Amino acid sequence: MNNVVAGSMNFKTPKVCSRIEKSDLGVEQMILNRGIFTFSLDLELAWGTRKRANAAFMEPFLSGTREAVLRLLELFEEFNICGTWATVGALLLGSGDDTKKHHWLHGNDFADVPPGDAVSQPDWYAEDIIHALRDCSVPQDIGCHTLTHGFVNPEMEGREQFREELIKSLQVFDENGLGKPTSFIFPKAKMGHFDVLAEAGFRSFRGPENKWFESLPGVRLPAALRLIDARLASCPRADAPQYHPAGLWMIPSSQFYSPFYNVGKYVPIRARVKKAIRGLHHACKNKGVFHLWTHPFNLGVRSEELLEGLREIFTEADTLQKKGQLEILSMKSLAVLGDKVRTGNNRLEESISDPPAIGHLR
Ligand SMILES: [Zn+2]
Repeated sequence: MNNVVAGSMNFKTPKVCSRIEKSDLGVEQMILNRGIFTFSLDLELAWGTRKRANAAFMEPFLSGTREAVLRLLELFEEFNICGTWATVGALLLGSGDDTKKHHWLHGNDFADVPPGDAVSQPDWYAEDIIHALRDCSVPQDIGCHTLTHGFVNPEMEGREQFREELIKSLQVFDENGLGKPTSFIFPKAKMGHFDVLAEAGFRSFRGPENKWFESLPGVRLPAALRLIDARLASCPRADAPQYHPAGLWMIPSSQFYSPFYNVGKYVPIRARVKKAIRGLHHACKNKGVFHLWTHPFNLGVRSEELLEGLREIFTEADTLQKKGQLEILSMKSLAVLGDKVRTGNNRLEESISDPPAIGHLR
């Protein structure tokens, strides 16, 4: 294992952003001098689908996840890519005792969650995956995806619950030597309480994909349009990171790298890759971020094809990077870069890796 903790790793922050400017709508955004490729993954295993109808179909995806993660990390090493892994904290609450659960998982809300650890209950606990991320020779950005994948309620009554989840998540990260996470991804993109997130020391979150058809009523019409969009490999958005008034960077997402499930079953790998390559070129031209994202379990079925597709995307990103048109950066690096330029403080990295102590939140 690497003998450095994630919080103290040096994340690269090249000079790809020279200034921050306000848009016509008054939003501050990074002015980039080349394109950026960011890849984020929501690491949640069974926590992401519990109590949902699709949980019944997850087993083959979950059982293929670990092998896929190891092979993806090999690709990251080959192409020198720092991915952002937004991790559900409860994956690290394994008790090492098959009869007793961690005390945070007691109560009716968690009656469906089994006791155990990564060996006895690998769909629920994942100390081994975190070790693999830390063993990667290219430092990975281990971010947070809440403690138990609870959807954030943006109303006032959801505020304290969200704060509590963050406090506990920070504690789990700290106890596992992961330092303080600064990248955050909201489960199911249900966003809110950005000031609470900033107070807890987070510096960035993944923004929405802005697909107009996802907000249409019903299930079938958005699904049909999603399929058409994917098969046509229409060019994804590649916008610049925006500064949220709560004091955080919003890194917009561009493309979901879909599994062979639901609509994704009818989308060939070629279409996924073609769309991503269009996104990379658009990012270079537009001087924006092409932000690809997925869940590790999405790669668990037909892993060979999906990883081969990623290899093609990484190869194109590498070529563009060598031509000086693109930079490959994690969410963490993008936020550090934006903060440095925004405040004019080049020593900011140290202070960013040391956000307010947990007690400050209480
Ligand atoms: Zn999730």
